[in-house]
Amino acid sequence: SKLELENKYKSDFPILKQKVNGKDLVYLDNAATTQKPKAVLDAINDYNENINANPHRGAHILSVKATEAYQNARDTVKEFINAEFSEEIIFTRNTTESINLLAYSLGELLDEGDEIVISIMEHHSNIIPWQQLAKRKNLKLKYLYPGEDYRISRSELEDKITDKTKIFSISQMSNVTGVINPVKEMAEYAHKHGAYVVIDGAQGAPHLKTDVQAIDADFYAFSAHKMLGPMGIGVLYGKKHLLEKIPPFLTGGGMIEYVYEQSSTFAPLPEKFEAGTPNAEGAVGLAAAIDYLQKIGLDEIEKHEQELTEYALQKMEKLDYIELAGPDDLKDRGGIISFNLKGIHSHDLASISDTEGIALRSGHHCAQPLMKHLNLNSTGRISFYFYNSKEEIDKFLASLQKAREVFGYGS
Ligand code: PMP
Repeated sequence: SKLELENKYKSDFPILKQKVNGKDLVYLDNAATTQKPKAVLDAINDYNENINANPHRGAHILSVKATEAYQNARDTVKEFINAEFSEEIIFTRNTTESINLLAYSLGELLDEGDEIVISIMEHHSNIIPWQQLAKRKNLKLKYLYPGEDYRISRSELEDKITDKTKIFSISQMSNVTGVINPVKEMAEYAHKHGAYVVIDGAQGAPHLKTDVQAIDADFYAFSAHKMLGPMGIGVLYGKKHLLEKIPPFLTGGGMIEYVYEQSSTFAPLPEKFEAGTPNAEGAVGLAAAIDYLQKIGLDEIEKHEQELTEYALQKMEKLDYIELAGPDDLKDRGGIISFNLKGIHSHDLASISDTEGIALRSGHHCAQPLMKHLNLNSTGRISFYFYNSKEEIDKFLASLQKAREVFGYGS
């Protein structure tokens, strides 16, 4: 692809120039956290060197500029996911906080006996908040299970979602198997039954061109640190009329209109959901990340990651000592590959790969119910971003061979 030929983006990332254990760093842990290009580091630095002040309603020039920068960041996010209104963008700490906000605030609309439907492939962040809500309000939490092909079938969806379903929450892309769920079709079906639709876009927003209006998501959550931005800043998108309808989550300064001794009235959106001093420098960093991603183009990024995934899968399938924990075809799957080496624990593999400068992840990937469902204790996982290359995949494959040798297996 264009990216592969030009290979120009990697040099924008200072951290990727370093050596690890004397080897060029090969960073293949992008599903956990991505790296930041100079443009993002500069934007955060510039904010801190020239603007930093509390954005809330200050009269002095720095506060006015900080408020402006924070609002501009919100507008950038709005455009990025094609929300209708800027006030539909709520800044949170991360995907996890966004979903907790919903489990609390949207949860207030549910009554005993109502049902919540999620899938077994969810990250713990899209499970536990709903479990807690279900316990608090005596609701039923139901799971969609994938078939042999790791994908959730239409019949599974139709079996589980009924008129009792009040919330349907599903990941856009699994952080373990890389499966991309048909969220638009799923949302349409859930809406027919009157459910609110929540999309965990933690692995979606960074890698797939996302249009919340086209999906018709009622709510959509994602984290900046998985898309070149800083940690500690995330987003909850919600349809305006729904955000207006549900109660606030965190309360305190910044989210009120009037405060009396025994009660208060709340600020309009988005402040209603942003209690306390916000992470303005984080929002500025996220906006710079979005600008950078859009210069490359999400279509281009998706295409490059598809190529890398195809390249890696084709090679991995041929090795009889590898067991893939995800679909081996490219249909509706992103650049995340979970696997095991026969006879070698994924933690050992990750340690040996590290000595070769390769950063990969091992363990349960915060998806224990899925691991149990797949009958696995742990997997190794590589996950790509646009700055990765086929050459890096070759280095990763060589490190698998090295691990086999360390454990006394032949080549
Ligand atoms: N959902 C999915 C699908 C994820 O991959 C992750 C991060 N691994 C999360 C939720 C949680 O994101 P965060 O830790 O940024 O809240």
